[in-house]
Amino acid sequence: MLVVMKPNASQAEIDAVVDKIRALGLTAHAIPGAQRVAIGITGNKGALEGGLFSSLPGVADTIRVSNPFKLVSREVKPDDTVIHVGEAQLGGKAIAVIAGPCSVESKEQLLEAARGVKRHGATFLRGGAFKPRTSPYEFQGLGEEGLKLLALAREATGLKVVTEVMDADDLAMCVEYADVLQIGARNMQNFALLRKLGAVKKPILLKRGPSATIREFLMAAEYILSNGNYQVALCERGIRTFENMTRNTLDLNAVPVLKALSHLPVVVDPSHGIGLRQHVPAMARAAVAAGADALIIEVHPCPEQALSDGHQSLAVPEFGELMQQVRIVASALARPF
Ligand code: PEP
Ligand code: MN
Repeated sequence: MLVVMKPNASQAEIDAVVDKIRALGLTAHAIPGAQRVAIGITGNKGALEGGLFSSLPGVADTIRVSNPFKLVSREVKPDDTVIHVGEAQLGGKAIAVIAGPCSVESKEQLLEAARGVKRHGATFLRGGAFKPRTSPYEFQGLGEEGLKLLALAREATGLKVVTEVMDADDLAMCVEYADVLQIGARNMQNFALLRKLGAVKKPILLKRGPSATIREFLMAAEYILSNGNYQVALCERGIRTFENMTRNTLDLNAVPVLKALSHLPVVVDPSHGIGLRQHVPAMARAAVAAGADALIIEVHPCPEQALSDGHQSLAVPEFGELMQQVRIVASALARPF
């Protein structure tokens, strides 16, 4: 159920609706929109009677939300969510770029990557300190040391830091160092972790699971919003199909579908999506053409020597070319870049 307030509803009227929802033992989510505040209700087992709220002062309407995903849906919030991280932003008219190495490997590697991607127009630095590797014998990341290096690179460049949290035990530590917390594809349905992200005061970049449907992806995001964190960006990073010429199949269908169903920013990761360095720019261009709000791209000062995902990482000059190409697509769509 959604209680839509009148555009001129006062804070006291909004608070009265929230109090009534809480008195019923339910959870209220007051979501400010461009025109009006809408208050989503979760926690009810059966359907709620609109009449419970429609007579309260300041209430314009009550609407049953038909989708299983509620708070992430456009029904609840028609206008796009824009996540502000200092000067940088995810969502809205401008297209953002998150770039950097798959893994943080050393101070020199990270600073070189960070300076390179900044020079070419990225506003966020990516880099994993906790790495979800298929083999336990592969490089697992530098842990807290990696987080410290990310913070150092932020100091040096002004880029905002995006890094993956793999385990709820590391959550507090990642919150301390990062600006945006990435939840990896393998953890998309780690519901215990998703619930804990609800209490975190940092934006979340939620990656789509390799075998998750769009509905499951949205329901995973719903876990985070329904627990109180509304700052979530959805990241398409390729799904597993029968195709094995590429690492994954980048599902660009998901971009317009997600944009239609949800108000959350949509990010595309062509690096993991196709997994082949020479084809990353093509899929980056296609992602922007399809309506993505942001890209996340793996860039390494020396991809041949990368400790993870070197085959899909761009060298800094290649990243520069990608940015030029994407700029042309963005301008054709009248999107600032
Ligand atoms: C990554 O971003 O390096 C990563 C591990 O991504 P994903 O979770 O999408 O595989
Ligand atoms: Mn990677």
